[in-house]
Amino acid sequence: MAVTQSKTVTTCKLLIGNDWKESQATEFGEVFNPSTGDLIAKVPMCGADDVDAAVRNAHEAYLEWKEVPIVERARLMFRFKNLLESNYEEIARCVTREHGKTLPEARASVQRGIEVVEFACGIPSLIVGESMENIARNVDCETIKHPLGVCVGITPFNFPAMVPLWMYPIALVCGNSFVLKPSEKVPLSSMLIAELLIKAGLPKGVLNIVHGGKDCVNALLMHPQVKAISFVGSTAIAKYVYEVGTANGKRVQAAGGAKNHIIIMPDADMDQTVQALQASAFGCAGERCMAGSLALPVGEAADLLIPKLVESTGKMKVGRTDIDDEKLSPDMGPLISADHLKRVKSMVDQGAAEGATVALDGRDVKVKDAPNGYFLGPTIFDKAKPDMSIVREEIFGPVLSMVRVKTIEDAIKIGQECPFGNGAVIYTNSGRAAREFKRHFNAGMIGINVGVPASMAWFPFTGWNASFFGDLHIQGREGIQFYTQQKMTMTRWFAPKADTGKFQDPVWKPKG
Ligand code: NAD
Repeated sequence: MAVTQSKTVTTCKLLIGNDWKESQATEFGEVFNPSTGDLIAKVPMCGADDVDAAVRNAHEAYLEWKEVPIVERARLMFRFKNLLESNYEEIARCVTREHGKTLPEARASVQRGIEVVEFACGIPSLIVGESMENIARNVDCETIKHPLGVCVGITPFNFPAMVPLWMYPIALVCGNSFVLKPSEKVPLSSMLIAELLIKAGLPKGVLNIVHGGKDCVNALLMHPQVKAISFVGSTAIAKYVYEVGTANGKRVQAAGGAKNHIIIMPDADMDQTVQALQASAFGCAGERCMAGSLALPVGEAADLLIPKLVESTGKMKVGRTDIDDEKLSPDMGPLISADHLKRVKSMVDQGAAEGATVALDGRDVKVKDAPNGYFLGPTIFDKAKPDMSIVREEIFGPVLSMVRVKTIEDAIKIGQECPFGNGAVIYTNSGRAAREFKRHFNAGMIGINVGVPASMAWFPFTGWNASFFGDLHIQGREGIQFYTQQKMTMTRWFAPKADTGKFQDPVWKPKG
């Protein structure tokens, strides 16, 4: 059993060698239902001993797993995919319960995760090496992709099921073993999904799970048997993980925070733009690394857009997401924690104090039957300025700031000055404006009339600047490259000397 259950509070265990084990930790973190503020689980804050046990086990498993033919490794993913699909609803409800997303949002996130498993099923045809014959006389050359060994995944709170699935399905089919450290705020979905992978036939120790925060991460970063680290989280920790991980000789890909710009040209279809912008800024309560959090209406677009957007967003229903009756489902759920709610509210206070106009204020939202939930209503700032904190910093909540600009060049300049570089979107009917934007905007994932241009499983998640540290991004073919190392073999077979008659090869005989 992945957890021990007392009345309503579960205590998480570690997954080591396909057994759920008690941690040696003496400190525990707490997991809350964000809709109610109720404690639902305790999670051990693992230290070096637990990490060492998990990594050693993963290393032992790797030695066997890398010898398993790749088609069999892929078949594990086919069975896993079927189980994910047949348990889809249970996983989505678990995501909602521990994270607070609405059920449709949770379902969509599980679907995105399943798509990575589908991608992983196809890795045998993507991992094939290259070869060329006669690169010199009688010399042939080939490259083959080998696994790395024990790989580690360290994940954030905002997509409890999807982000871990960005990582280990690809790592495993490539022949690696894996140690996952899910966010200590949302450990339950990862454990539920791991149960399914075991059911699908996971060999012992190929996927392991440890829990915790800084100490656990440090032990993973420094463990000599860990070869590669995939990280997703805030920029400060991404940078830290990249620096410490690479200093300890690991390969690291570390995705960080974001501030995603949405440019609205005056010729855009404003009704479509209102819908897409609202979903982008307030979907998942703004707790998305691809949330459109900074809008830059160009010229008269501001007056065409903002009144409609404020009116439509003001009608959004905020409420409990942990409900059975889907007819009562809200448009937006709570934030992850009381601390995060406090931080986001204080950033809204600061934006107002710095002089931005609060066009829609979500600070006093009240949710029936949930006095202790972590709710903030959708909030819109108009007439923000580029030097304000609400424009420069990631808020990670349901807050959209508007900076009115005169030209598309002004908007592109604001993007150039932003330290992040995850996503950016333009709404326009002008092919030329879209092309200028696509070519010049300083971000790695671009949307043209698309609200959230988050790469799907077949493409890498190409954040730039302080939104990514490393060389090879997560997912897609770059994911395969990240989890493999290439071996080049050059071969020469000497041609027999026909004139001497000294044939070394009993099989091959030259003509004549
Ligand atoms: P976080 O950085 O606080 O935590 C991420 C992971 O790091 C967790 O597993 C956590 O336990 C660990 N951690 C926290 N503090 C640590 C420390 N001092 N030392 C070592 N490890 C530590 O991030 P979060 O609050 O869980 O997630 C939100 C952030 O993640 C946002 O900034 C968001 O933009 C970012 N994010 C980025 C992407 C992307 O693809 N770029 C995707 C999702 C989320």
